[in-house]
Amino acid sequence: MNQQNTISRRGFLEAVAVLGSLGLASCASNERQSSRSAALGRTGPLPPRREFVVRNAYVVTMDAKLGDIPRGDVHVRNGALIAVGPNLTAPGVEQIDGSNRIALPGFVDTHFHLWGSFARGIVADGEFDYFPVMSRLGPAMSPDDAYNSARLGIAEAINSGLTTIHDWSHNIISGAYADADLCAIRDTGIRARFSYGYSRNLQTKPEQTADFADIARVKGEWFGSSNDGLTTMGFASRGAGDTPPKVYRAEWEFARSHGLPITQHAGRSLAEIKRFRRIEMLYKDKLLGPDVQLIHTYSASPEERAMIAETKTHVSIAPFTASRLASGLPYLGDLLSKGVQCSLSVDTTTVGGNADMFGIMRLMLQLNHLRSMNVMEVQPRRILELATLDGAKDLGIADRIGSLSPGKRADLILVRTDDLNVAPFFNPALLLVQQAQPYNVDTVVIDGRILKHKGELLALDAQEVMHKAAESFNAARKRAGGPY
Ligand SMILES: [Zn+2]
Repeated sequence: MNQQNTISRRGFLEAVAVLGSLGLASCASNERQSSRSAALGRTGPLPPRREFVVRNAYVVTMDAKLGDIPRGDVHVRNGALIAVGPNLTAPGVEQIDGSNRIALPGFVDTHFHLWGSFARGIVADGEFDYFPVMSRLGPAMSPDDAYNSARLGIAEAINSGLTTIHDWSHNIISGAYADADLCAIRDTGIRARFSYGYSRNLQTKPEQTADFADIARVKGEWFGSSNDGLTTMGFASRGAGDTPPKVYRAEWEFARSHGLPITQHAGRSLAEIKRFRRIEMLYKDKLLGPDVQLIHTYSASPEERAMIAETKTHVSIAPFTASRLASGLPYLGDLLSKGVQCSLSVDTTTVGGNADMFGIMRLMLQLNHLRSMNVMEVQPRRILELATLDGAKDLGIADRIGSLSPGKRADLILVRTDDLNVAPFFNPALLLVQQAQPYNVDTVVIDGRILKHKGELLALDAQEVMHKAAESFNAARKRAGGPY
């Protein structure tokens, strides 16, 4: 048992053994786990953590000391990076050919509403706007739908080279929905932070605090006394302005007393700052700090951006939803020049379209060009850092992932350099940020498990994932009773 993996897999594997012949896999691995999640898991056991060495790749370590290694090897054992460098000695160890491949740390998303993944086909065309549609669809979803939708989002993420996601879960109608997301995360083997949020119902009751009892239950059942394994936990806040001070102060105090980092949408739009200036409110309340992640900040004033920098608060930017919802142009270069910890996020594929970090990096670079009117302010290499090491820093796990540094966990991807859309290969940062697409992702390794190889997902049946998501999507649409 790998101590990095806080969520015990023993019970899961035992359940697989019992139910395997039925094609079902219980998700209730933890004996204390509520039985309500038992029927959700249906993905087979994850592949074991093998020992292997990637040979002759162009290794982009994102480690300041190691730099790029044009003909390098990466040795993986027991889910960890044993060695990274040229001509490694590893006799008898299984070899993976890395020639015509860039090896780099897996991409890290820092804000992803997994629950809505199945609805990307209907939102944001004509009158089917995101917020009204999801306000109807969300409450009509069952925990099973939440599982199927989250699993679709994760499968796409893994296929695209994302090895860590931040599940910003804000359709938690009851605890069973939190369990559903966590089941999907565990069944797929992705690294994640799960941030326990709220529901549409709670959004209409600003005087009511979040369900503290269930948050404590989830923390106890899924995370035990530790919060630093393959999956970690945080708290997703409705926040100042949408809830009165006594409510958001109590929620933030609760989260901090349980060691949960806090995430909060803030400064998303001009409409928001007509109602309130959330960043300023939180600053005056002395609530900002390095355990807080603010999402968006496109409409933050210069004073608010200074408040973010002063308090060492983190910022997650989602360029696709920023532009698709006409929220505003991100102040990336300005925030970076102030020393703010920034990272990149999917937000929701329902609006953004895809869980594609290549596309996110590309659009982020170009939006910053438009904001600054200076193509030199932020360069592709810096964008690549935001999508890897900075994402890990934002989530507080840079001691474990984010760079290919010996001793860290083995989260890495291989990207082909000999495809039509990227050849001939010369500059890795340009290839990855300006040219590559998910279909160039050859191999994905998460915590030492090979989850994609030679372009094929190994642990997930993509057809089954899509079929179940479609089934849930159609059932939830019918229950929602709308035209969509
Ligand atoms: Zn969001």
